[in-house]
Amino acid sequence: MAKPLLAYYGGTFDPIHFGHIKPVEALARQVGLQKVVIIPNNVPPHRPQPEASSAQRKAMIEAAIHNNALFELDDRELQRAMPSWTADTMEALRNEQGAAQPLGFIIGQDSLLAFRTWHRYADILACCHLLVCRRPGYPLTMPDAEQQRWLEQHLAADAGELHALPAGKIFLADTPLLAISATDIRQRLENGQPCDDLVPGPVMGYITRHGLYRD
Ligand code: ATP
Repeated sequence: MAKPLLAYYGGTFDPIHFGHIKPVEALARQVGLQKVVIIPNNVPPHRPQPEASSAQRKAMIEAAIHNNALFELDDRELQRAMPSWTADTMEALRNEQGAAQPLGFIIGQDSLLAFRTWHRYADILACCHLLVCRRPGYPLTMPDAEQQRWLEQHLAADAGELHALPAGKIFLADTPLLAISATDIRQRLENGQPCDDLVPGPVMGYITRHGLYRD
């Protein structure tokens, strides 16, 4: 018997912030998600490395979701020596959860715009739905007409489809716009500016205790 739609949320989370959490809480209410599993990335060597270590990024996520029953953490990508492709992780999750289980992968609008450049993007969509949160400053249409047609072909008519089908739909959620990025937070902390409105209190406490993101 399939469980209700189960959603995964990948990212660097350097650090996790309210722009990650608040839109996803709204998404969960909109589509009836009971569980969101956060999967922090192990960043490939050729990409700019996170400033916080894997252990610190994981600890900040734990601090953020402590007492929040919606979220869980899955640190499988951090445990591997090599970075994982999202397609590989989603295929592993599909095998674990069974063919009938509706699965979702949560991304922001910026990630949707770049999604067609992701490694084996079609295989990702074959494994799960894409649940897209709005993000200020990013266009609502895809970069070209062909990609826009592709998006429209995959759009979910309503949230009900996400529960009725195991994968393959793209849902554009009506989530609150939060102009927050981890890049901006790191910059602010480096400049000694406050970030209390941008990250949960326990995360700010961890950052302060460990002296993170100071140059
Ligand atoms: P950075 O500034 O370091 O690139 P980020 O703030 O974009 O980081 P990531 O960890 O790279 O955060 O993002 C993980 C996922 O969260 C991505 O799919 C991204 O689109 C989404 N996301 C991040 N911030 C927001 C936001 N403010 N609103 C909606 N989605 C967001």
